[in-house]
Amino acid sequence: MDIEPPDTLFGLYHGTPLPERPWAYGTCCHDDRISIYQRPILDACQTEDEVVATIGETVIHEVGHYFGLSEEELEAIRRAILAAPDPSARGRPGEGAPKVLPAFRGAAVEGEES
Ligand SMILES: [Zn+2]
Repeated sequence: MDIEPPDTLFGLYHGTPLPERPWAYGTCCHDDRISIYQRPILDACQTEDEVVATIGETVIHEVGHYFGLSEEELEAIRRAILAAPDPSARGRPGEGAPKVLPAFRGAAVEGEES
């Protein structure tokens, strides 16, 4: 994995993604896990709300890797979420996008204007 400054790593999925598992992979005794890196997240965020949003986005991103999604697929999903209408702005919570969306909206994305 190549990470060049100013990019940083907020989290990492460790394991074998579901689509890459062989037929006889089994269901026990594997150590799939997601690591969340506190210091880079705290360094990148200005507020507690940004920390919470960044952790949420990072966990969801790493779960996507567990399901076998690539960086490009996850980026396309993130952009679609950011572009989705905000259901709370319409005064109808629960309609449209899932409740997790406001956390994504609060996440700072370097080099992107909101
Ligand atoms: Zn990733």
